[in-house]
Amino acid sequence: MLKAVLFDLDGTIYKGETAIAGADDALGKLRKRGIRVFFISNAATESRAGVVKKLARMGVRSSEKEVYNATYATAKCIKENFRGKRVFCFGEKGMKEEFAKHGIKIVDDERAEVVVVGLDRTIDYDKIAVSCNAIRNGAVFIATNEDALFPVEDGYLPGAGAMVAAVERCTRVKPFVIGKPGPYFAELIIRENKLGKKEMLIVGDMLETDVKFAKNTGIKSVLVLTGMTKRKDLKNAAERPDYVLHSIAQLPSLVEKLSRP
Ligand SMILES: [Mg+2]
Repeated sequence: MLKAVLFDLDGTIYKGETAIAGADDALGKLRKRGIRVFFISNAATESRAGVVKKLARMGVRSSEKEVYNATYATAKCIKENFRGKRVFCFGEKGMKEEFAKHGIKIVDDERAEVVVVGLDRTIDYDKIAVSCNAIRNGAVFIATNEDALFPVEDGYLPGAGAMVAAVERCTRVKPFVIGKPGPYFAELIIRENKLGKKEMLIVGDMLETDVKFAKNTGIKSVLVLTGMTKRKDLKNAAERPDYVLHSIAQLPSLVEKLSRP
């Protein structure tokens, strides 16, 4: 029995600042069937509340409990494994906001015991230096994600992976990575919502992140063609989705079909 669907955001629910046609309606139909929906995103520049607001601006209804973005998942990881430790944030305001909400102790210098690196559009030498020294002194190195690029309206911009690589290079330490395609998000959702892998479905637009994430976690996947991947890319793909849909608008009919005995 299908109990939950995990959605990627960019390219799946919206594109840039515009919702994919039928997204809100499809989500509503799933909720009405008693299926829980979750939004998973490697983006670490916004708090959970920030994601809800952004979706609302585009006419897509959601609640904070449904959002599992890299900032929230990282905060949970720190609380579960490094409770009370001093944390240096190499990231933007949204990351600090979410961490503060969880009572995480944030410091600005190399006394940090945990260093979190995410996308930071105000990156400077000092942040690399503090991260480097703290990690060389024994701090734990966590990356929100290792995405090389992220999509914007007219192309791509460097992703968190560029910041992570800078810190990795000067410390020669590999980070623990929270985001997709690693399995952490799914493990957290399963734990917090008492779900089983067979009761879930992952929907996304990227073969290398979303479909690979599904494979890494043992959950079935749906590829939508509203984002990065085109049908022709499937031909030589290393990662193959279980289902391919034109867009999220077709998901309720797929779910209906899968629910038939
Ligand atoms: Mg996407």
